[in-house]
Amino acid sequence: MTTVSEASTATPTPTEQCISIHLTVETMIDADDGGLVLTTATESNLADLQEATPVQALARINAARAALDQQEALALDFEAATTPRTTETPHTWSFIDSDTGKLHAVTCMPGCNASHLGDVDTPNAPVDITCRAYDRSDMTGLPVYCNADEGEPDPLPFLATVIQVDHFDEDPKLRVPHAVIEVTQDHFTDPLDPDEYQAFIDQLEQRVAAMRLRHAELVRIRAEHQCRTEAQA
Ligand SMILES: [Zn+2]
Repeated sequence: MTTVSEASTATPTPTEQCISIHLTVETMIDADDGGLVLTTATESNLADLQEATPVQALARINAARAALDQQEALALDFEAATTPRTTETPHTWSFIDSDTGKLHAVTCMPGCNASHLGDVDTPNAPVDITCRAYDRSDMTGLPVYCNADEGEPDPLPFLATVIQVDHFDEDPKLRVPHAVIEVTQDHFTDPLDPDEYQAFIDQLEQRVAAMRLRHAELVRIRAEHQCRTEAQA
């Protein structure tokens, strides 16, 4: 059962909301005729367990998926509502243009966690001045060997997102905050605007979905292989 209840949305403060979803899809042997039947239930105690056609089951799965999307949106809204806004005075600093000797003022991108120490201390080419907010979310590395002969692998960081502004770049798209994905260590994407970043995430989801199919394939192939091996033994 999907229930969505909302407190008042009249105020800008975060509201109380509950989105819950229960769906059971099961194949079972019919007690009367011994045939296999498809059943679904949308209550957690299976009180409404009933036989369903594949089309009916897929319709309930689609409804469940829509509710999951709502849950994801709620979690993201919560994160946005509870993450402290940058309230400190914008960090403004200056550097000397190494080509012209001119003094340029720079106001850091909100959330910038680059130190800029080197930028302030020495003359620099404007094109090299970049504000960056490094990814500090869960950066658990993949256990990947770069060199199989080197013993224990170093966990390989993957899919870190750097949000950055290249203040003096000729391309206006790079002078506003954009994302660059470090796919694996030292391998980056082109600069991505929010829509392009969303497309990148969608591609990843498709790849992960394909990997889940491959996982099922692996489980099946392994079982068949084991059967053959046992049959030959
Ligand atoms: Zn900065």
